[in-house]
Amino acid sequence: MKMKSFVIIGLGRFGTSLAKELVIQGYEVLGIDRDEHIIDSLSEYLTHSVVADSTDEEVLRSLGVRNFDCGVVAIGNDIQASIMTAILLKDLGVKKVVAKALTELHGRVLEKIGVDRVIYPERDMGVRVAHQLVSPNLLDFIELSKDYTIAELEVPSKLHGVTLAELNLRAKYGCSIVALRKSDGVNIAPTASDVLHEKDLMVIIGTNAEIERFEREEL
Ligand code: ADP
Repeated sequence: MKMKSFVIIGLGRFGTSLAKELVIQGYEVLGIDRDEHIIDSLSEYLTHSVVADSTDEEVLRSLGVRNFDCGVVAIGNDIQASIMTAILLKDLGVKKVVAKALTELHGRVLEKIGVDRVIYPERDMGVRVAHQLVSPNLLDFIELSKDYTIAELEVPSKLHGVTLAELNLRAKYGCSIVALRKSDGVNIAPTASDVLHEKDLMVIIGTNAEIERFEREEL
């Protein structure tokens, strides 16, 4: 099911950025924070914004939070408020509850109470930036599992004009190019005769070790 409406609770740095971006992308967002200054400063950006304490069940019920497709608990520092809010959203029947955790233990508690997805924004951003710093051609990546990754790598000048047959990625490294992004669009079924151009993006799937070896030896 595609989610269309979101209730974001706790409009600190993370919650505010998430809420604003969802509105920019055209989604309906109800923002809740107990700090009225924060709500005042955001009211013009969000679809609805309310000053409320999200640990008060009656308040959440009266705001109709159960009618939203997704609830995000973006409260971090006040762990008690984060946990209480997450339980209330689940109990009130919000279909999908996502919650931000500051520590592993905080995250484990959120999982135990049935939160559908626990996110660790600071930890995950640290990991992403570390990967990007040590491999300059890496633009983005998705970890499919502990071992497998999809990585988006920029074609360096030394591979300009090389065909996928010549690159011979699968035989040499074990990983595969699943898509090529060029200035004129995305090729989602690249073939052996496709030619790489500097600054094109290669979307590669493989184990972390295979992709790292390819980056080390070819990029
Ligand atoms: P960040 O690190 O992303 O800035 P914080 O944990 O510092 O996140 O911010 C959390 C926000 O959640 C604050 O704006 C705070 O006012 C709000 N908040 C905390 N507890 C509650 C609560 N019980 N009800 C509503 N808002 C809350």
